[in-house]
Amino acid sequence: MAETIFGKIISGAIPCHKVYEDDRVLAFLDINPLTRGHTLVIPKEPAESLDQLSEESAAALGRVLPRLCRAVIAVTGVQHYNVLENNGESAHQAVRHVHFHIIPKPNSREGLGIAWPAGSLDQREAAELAGSLRNRLAAQP
Ligand code: AMP
Repeated sequence: MAETIFGKIISGAIPCHKVYEDDRVLAFLDINPLTRGHTLVIPKEPAESLDQLSEESAAALGRVLPRLCRAVIAVTGVQHYNVLENNGESAHQAVRHVHFHIIPKPNSREGLGIAWPAGSLDQREAAELAGSLRNRLAAQP
């Protein structure tokens, strides 16, 4: 995988406003925040998308995310927030290194805007689809 801007932040080649660091995880302020307190949480492992991430890095991220959310709430005074993780260009991923956004949502106008063009679930297709997913999960290592 080619080094990304986040790889350069991890190595210290370019600076960031660090919020948290441990052996596997780094968190820092987003350079173009949607709202005050917008924080990025990344694994040090250079995985491009979540499906490519090791269980060890995933566990390390999962362990620390709630704590980082609590810090963002406490410091911004904003109780509501979105946690966003984009995978792939059409899913709005600009930096090809896994990252979770923590984005304070002070009100309905500021913060992350979401278009949610929901459909409805066809029961027969859903039974088939859930079965296929269960089979795939049972088959993979
Ligand atoms: P995404 O669209 O999910 O890939 O988001 C990438 C995020 O990385 C954007 O919100 C950018 O503002 C942020 N970003 C890009 N370069 C930097 C940087 N050098 N320091 C902090 N945040 C950055």
